[in-house]
Amino acid sequence: MDDCFCGQKAVVFLHYSGRPLCEEHFIRMFDKRVRGTVRERRMLKKGDRIAVGLSGGKDSCVLLHSLARLKEDIPIELVAVSIDEGIEGYREKTLKIAARECEKLGIEHAVFSFKEGAGKAMDEIAQKKNIPCSYCGVIRRYLINKGAREVGANKLAIGHNLDDTAQTVLMNIMRNEPSRLARFSECMEGNARFVQRIRPLMRTPEKEVAIYAMLKGIELDNKDCPYAPFAFRGHVRKMLNETEERYPGTKYKIANSFFEMEEGLRNMYKDKISKCDSCGEPCSGETCMFCKTVSLLSIK
Ligand code: SF4
Repeated sequence: MDDCFCGQKAVVFLHYSGRPLCEEHFIRMFDKRVRGTVRERRMLKKGDRIAVGLSGGKDSCVLLHSLARLKEDIPIELVAVSIDEGIEGYREKTLKIAARECEKLGIEHAVFSFKEGAGKAMDEIAQKKNIPCSYCGVIRRYLINKGAREVGANKLAIGHNLDDTAQTVLMNIMRNEPSRLARFSECMEGNARFVQRIRPLMRTPEKEVAIYAMLKGIELDNKDCPYAPFAFRGHVRKMLNETEERYPGTKYKIANSFFEMEEGLRNMYKDKISKCDSCGEPCSGETCMFCKTVSLLSIK
């Protein structure tokens, strides 16, 4: 690999721009892009209290560091929120990493568990159901929204990177779920019960998030969830990575198509968030997916 344009040894080669970059210039480029995404999509404003969804994986830890940097310029408050699904041999380690990163940055950290919030840990649910990820996703989304409200946040930052963005767009199209795609838009305004989501890393490729994490000394846990082979997302990820390899820029193009469509989608579904008859949490019908899931599993 050639040296960086500044003459320093390059640590990364960015294929899409044809540029080798040294550590300093890579970090500078990375921070600038996150800052640009936040500014362009008006994600933050003075006085915001941001709940940072922190699993302890690379994306959420990098997000925490990026927001902590932004906090030096924008007067915002940060509080990290983790969800413990109760997956033995997997979640304990990332929760420890999450706690350590919060301590390093002096950020308050709250943990909410499936066991407490839904009555059963994921390991118990997986014994009964053979598609654990769909249950896990519903319960996690419900608990993180509720958790963000409980810590007094007005926004919830999620560590979705560019790859996650492209996967989510495709998954919602493949499942014919346009209302969920509309809710993916962070500009969808929050209300008293639905905390507005922001995704500052949504334009950043996953590989670059991993490099940034390593350069920042963030401990990485590369162990996959034992239920990952059941995840639809895993299938879409593989398909997208193969397509990207053959047709570079595909992930950017999918994300950009979503940005073009999101205003229309948002307008179409903005009045369709109602209150669940059973628990009072936000939903698009009469009963929310969490209550339906809990009753289906007979776990509460
Ligand atoms: Fe939950 Fe499935 Fe992700 Fe594991 S792979 S954390 S079960 S959604």
